[in-house]
Amino acid sequence: MFRRYSLHIVLRYCCIVMMSCTCCPRHCDVDRRVKLGFCHASMLPEIASVSVHKGEEPPISGKKGIVNIFFAHCNLQCCFCQNKEISGASVESDKVFYHSADEVVGRVAELLPQTENVVGFVSPSHYAWLVPEMVEAFHAKGMYPTIVYNTNGYDTVDTLRMVAPYVDIYLPDFKYMDASLAQRYSHAADYPQRAQEALIEMLAQKGTGLPTDENDIAFRGIIVRHLVLPGQVQNSIACLQWMADNLSTRLHVSLMAQYYPPQDNLPDQLNRTLLPEEYNQVVAAFHDLGFTRGWVQELSASETYRPDFSRRQSF
Ligand code: SF4
Repeated sequence: MFRRYSLHIVLRYCCIVMMSCTCCPRHCDVDRRVKLGFCHASMLPEIASVSVHKGEEPPISGKKGIVNIFFAHCNLQCCFCQNKEISGASVESDKVFYHSADEVVGRVAELLPQTENVVGFVSPSHYAWLVPEMVEAFHAKGMYPTIVYNTNGYDTVDTLRMVAPYVDIYLPDFKYMDASLAQRYSHAADYPQRAQEALIEMLAQKGTGLPTDENDIAFRGIIVRHLVLPGQVQNSIACLQWMADNLSTRLHVSLMAQYYPPQDNLPDQLNRTLLPEEYNQVVAAFHDLGFTRGWVQELSASETYRPDFSRRQSF
């Protein structure tokens, strides 16, 4: 019964993408079999990396790590993206290692026993229909990992409802409250509105709890990530304020300081790393607003988080 229901959903989504893609809030309305939309992803799966990652929040990656599936391309295209070589509009063919769900599932089967039995779908918004397909393939092979949906937050409520039966933990970004900043950095003036709707939907699905098993690995919930950008303290505080006012201060929030300039000629103050006084203001706001659950990354993280997607074992 479950399989028949999910197949129906997957087929419906394939049709939506084939006829007129509305998979994400861009609503490009293109037939991805013949034309590319904003994300430059066709109908064919392009997966840049399937690798074990130990750098997620502690209840996600634990001691042994998580198998992360990194999709190529992205529906947001942030100018400061730290994964540009796999998320850009044009991704070099030698950066795409997998072209089918079957290949990915085979690689996950090899890696999963080494990990905490957790699989993360990273930047899945533009390939969302592959999540049910792959999760069902895991089950068919006798694998029942905890599923993490690691998204930039620019998602439609419809897509989140489609993946809901397959996702255990949402790991969304909440990048901007400032619409002009969202437009300037990510070509998405509606990001604040769309991300707020997405977060409300995620909270309705999972609640504020983050229950863990006997190994302290979470099996359900939400962790909202916020990367503090240089020169944009007010945007960061506004993101925290909105979550405190509209979601809950019981939400698990992960404040991140790992920003580094991935290239030259970036706008505003993006050509430098974060200053201690900037980060300290955001951390103080996090505590003043009453958040008590989550993680505050050390400022020195910008020196250590530099993925290399030319190797299969990234990070
Ligand atoms: S998934 Fe890609 S093609 Fe589809 S609406 Fe979003 S950006 Fe456009």
